Amino acid sequence: MDMSLKSSGTRSEQRDETLNAGLQWEMTFHPSSSVFVAQDSEGLVIRNLQEWQPALRNTVMAYWHFQGGKDKRLYAVTDAFSQNNGQLGISDARYVNALKIVLQAFSPVEYCAHKSLIRVARVSGDCGWQTDILQQAVDHLRHSQIEVHALSHFNKYFNGMHSYVETFDHHWLMAVAKSYADDLLSAGPLESLVAVCFAYTQVIGKVLYVPFMSAAADNGDMSTAAAGFTAASDKVRHHCNGLELIGLLVQQDPANLPKVQAWIDKWFWRSVRLSSLIAIMQDYMLPVRTQSWKECWLTYVQHPLQQLFTQWAALGIQMPASWQHACEMQEHVSHQTWLRLCRYNIQLPLHVWAPGEAELNWLSSKYPGSFDAMFRPHLQGLAHQIHHARAPVDHSSPVLCGTCQLPVPGMDHAGTQSGSAALQDRYFCGLHCQGIFNTEPQKHSAQARRSAALAAWRMPDTAGNDGGLFGGSQDDINFQHWNGEE
Ligand SMILES: [Zn+2]
Repeated sequence: MDMSLKSSGTRSEQRDETLNAGLQWEMTFHPSSSVFVAQDSEGLVIRNLQEWQPALRNTVMAYWHFQGGKDKRLYAVTDAFSQNNGQLGISDARYVNALKIVLQAFSPVEYCAHKSLIRVARVSGDCGWQTDILQQAVDHLRHSQIEVHALSHFNKYFNGMHSYVETFDHHWLMAVAKSYADDLLSAGPLESLVAVCFAYTQVIGKVLYVPFMSAAADNGDMSTAAAGFTAASDKVRHHCNGLELIGLLVQQDPANLPKVQAWIDKWFWRSVRLSSLIAIMQDYMLPVRTQSWKECWLTYVQHPLQQLFTQWAALGIQMPASWQHACEMQEHVSHQTWLRLCRYNIQLPLHVWAPGEAELNWLSSKYPGSFDAMFRPHLQGLAHQIHHARAPVDHSSPVLCGTCQLPVPGMDHAGTQSGSAALQDRYFCGLHCQGIFNTEPQKHSAQARRSAALAAWRMPDTAGNDGGLFGGSQDDINFQHWNGEE
């Protein structure tokens, strides 16, 4: 760098600017557009990225300083948890099954968000923009790593965590997360930027890193809670900067609005479908409960996004097309997903169970008017079946939606219907997924084909104790034994 920097006597804003956007240089051997292809791809008109001055901008030096300090505090907690056999102090071994979903579905998605953003940083032409996106990309890598580290302690004592990468790649339950990540990585750089900065951060990040991580602490798991809280402080920066960035893309040219709106619509819906895994964690997998999934949705997604879109109205950005449907479905998504998991319990990479009467009463109080009428009888019937040793045994795989890769409602009785048959007929969970598919049929066809091929792969033999009902499982028996309750 041929620029001199006076460390003393320089105002901090000037210094930050010099160490950030000021590092820009002009290309001389190649045209800039051939090196930084993001500005000429995907049909968006990009005039001047240097207009972007995010509220929470760090220099690289400040970033490493802050993150290093946070990591020291985090690892002090996770190491203390590990050395004090923290697994014995959790509320109940059922809780660990929520961690299995974090590890098998969300840690790999965090890693893919990192890969996606690091590509965006590479192909963007403005140095300030590159530095900010680079830092967010490194954040996502860090989140994936600290989750794996925090949960590695549980892997020593509980089943279902030994092959989380293979589970993410191959199990139909994780296909919703896998296809989300694949879609993210195969999208153009600016689309994946909107996907991560808007949809992933606003829908998944908020509910996973705030209410669920608080619940982890309530359930005695300070290891995961500490990892979640240190990630949540990064998410604040992603939240502020990401929304400004999307506003900037729209303001670059009026012609950009339809494209950005289409990406917002698509990725909001994809994130809503992915959040159904967090819904069951929140409503069914926490022995010590605080907030229901519906309360989380209202507090962390619905109300904040209503405010955001009110602000964005001045830019011409509208609510996602699926907004109304997405808000209404939160009344029943966790119950439907849990009942489906119980049906396929023997082949899952985690344990499920029938909730007890106290838990049913809690759910009834959180979902007045719908739970008792629509779901309680099914869950009581399930408990009755399990009590009489007639638990559901279904060796088939559900038919998955051609876009979101969640089981298609009403297709549970498809029995031997194979994934490839489903692909040919292109079943969808609803009109929103069908609409996304129709915008890029070739890409989503390929993803669905890949998902079906991956699901045909057999999990390792060690997976024998991973699935089935929790009652009587090795996890259940071990935990009782460790706590002297056998
Ligand atoms: Zn779908």
